[in-house]
Amino acid sequence: MKILDVAIIGAGTAGLSAERVARSAGASTVLVDEQFRGTTCANVGCMPSKLLIAAAAAAHSVRRASTFGVFATHRIDAAAVMARLRQQRDSFAAATREQIARLPDGVRVRGKARFLDTTTLELSGGERVRARAVVIATGAHPSIPESFAPIRNCILTNETLFELAQLPESLAVVGAGPLGLELAQAMARLGVAVSLFDQKAAPGGIEDAAIAACMREAFANEFDLHLGARIQVAAAGDRASIRWEGDSSGARIFDRVLVAVGRPPNLAELNLEATGLRLDERGIPVFDCETLQCGDSPVFIAGDASADRPVLHEAQAEGSMAGFNAARFPAETRRRRSVPFSIMFTDPPLALIGQRSGAGFICGETDYRDQGRAKVEARARGLLKIYAAAHDAALKGAALFCPGADHLGHLLAWQINAGATAAAVLEQPFYHPTLEEGLKPALRQICARAQVRVSPLEDSGSPSGA
Ligand SMILES: Cc1cc2nc3c(=O)[nH]c(=O)nc-3n(C[C@H](O)[C@H](O)[C@H](O)COP(=O)(O)OP(=O)(O)OC[C@H]3O[C@@H](n4cnc5c(N)ncnc54)[C@H](O)[C@@H]3O)c2cc1C
Repeated sequence: MKILDVAIIGAGTAGLSAERVARSAGASTVLVDEQFRGTTCANVGCMPSKLLIAAAAAAHSVRRASTFGVFATHRIDAAAVMARLRQQRDSFAAATREQIARLPDGVRVRGKARFLDTTTLELSGGERVRARAVVIATGAHPSIPESFAPIRNCILTNETLFELAQLPESLAVVGAGPLGLELAQAMARLGVAVSLFDQKAAPGGIEDAAIAACMREAFANEFDLHLGARIQVAAAGDRASIRWEGDSSGARIFDRVLVAVGRPPNLAELNLEATGLRLDERGIPVFDCETLQCGDSPVFIAGDASADRPVLHEAQAEGSMAGFNAARFPAETRRRRSVPFSIMFTDPPLALIGQRSGAGFICGETDYRDQGRAKVEARARGLLKIYAAAHDAALKGAALFCPGADHLGHLLAWQINAGATAAAVLEQPFYHPTLEEGLKPALRQICARAQVRVSPLEDSGSPSGA
């Protein structure tokens, strides 16, 4: 039996970060993984999906160039699109595997881990590891509902989609979350006949009705969209038949079906019962989000495994916090969490930041249909809303579905994280003409509603096209 300070289960973004930080803090470590194939991000997540979106954006730019009086013909070579995607993806994944290969001798241990008790793990090869503290960083997997069994041969998930040599002629996407919407739009722009289905009426998990309406309009322009729809699937030879009912009803046959209905954490095979940890109704250990500790046990959890903030920068931040605290267990450090922040890389993108509802909140908004730089670029659509405390106009959150929302979202997230007020942000320089200028009307509305005095030097006018 190996005996050491910190055992980390899962060599993804969170686990690698936890191992590095625990070792830097002086702990002896092992990092256990079934495959060491590199991270979800590099292999089947962030990077290949953005590579597909980049190809789709190139096709879309050519197609809409005539808006500017520029005429071009185009042909999509799907095999070349997928070949470039895999070639780039493989180099990102290889870089991650190189990091893993550079780990000191004895740190890397291959096998599937399960708990025998709170601090003892058994690996699939029979080896046992005992540690003073354990970090669970096992990630998540695509959920495929039982009802999809009859069309098993047509199903794609993020684990298989990027391996396609050619694109299908028709694709049903089930699930209007970030993953489903990003890939549906990209596939549609690459010439695939896409239909997207979701039982919920609001796309992308957005709760704001006006932004949801903008999103529905934008996506329905590009592919066949069925929100609020219940579906039934059946095999149709080697293809899949989908029958839907809801706001509309119908039936259609598809070559392939991308199932994007959620990614539950990889916890079921860890034998968590042996740890005595308190689990919530989903079977996820109850943990403190500022220490990542599960109860008062020597077990920590990080990344998608906790299903709390399943995005990459959080997996890395949580991994380092969990690794640090595991190395120093039972002493622990608390770390204030950064503002919740997620981006869906559609066009326009959706950025969601911080708290967007609450007692004593006010809101300012900008309609990007009338925003100067967005009009210049013929992409004037969407809406942003910024939320602030009514008493002092301190920024609390934002929802943006507008051109440049991925970058504007960062600016707002950084200001919200720093505790800035709307008046303070208005004192910053805004270059002209930019999409950033679109933040100003929303910030001014907040100041007016909070009756906060903006500097008397702040001109309330706007330059042409701002
Ligand atoms: C298609 C897609 C697109 C995405 N795009 C973005 C994006 O643009 N931006 C963003 O911020 N986030 C994005 N994400 C989310 C992001 O990829 C994840 O939040 C992040 O990769 C999670 O990292 P992790 O370390 O928690 O898990 P992983 O990287 O999945 O690592 C978990 C590891 O644990 C191992 N493991 C599991 N169980 C065991 C066990 N019992 N024993 C041993 N090892 C085990 C697995 O083999 C795996 O190596 C995307 C995700 C997907 C699927």
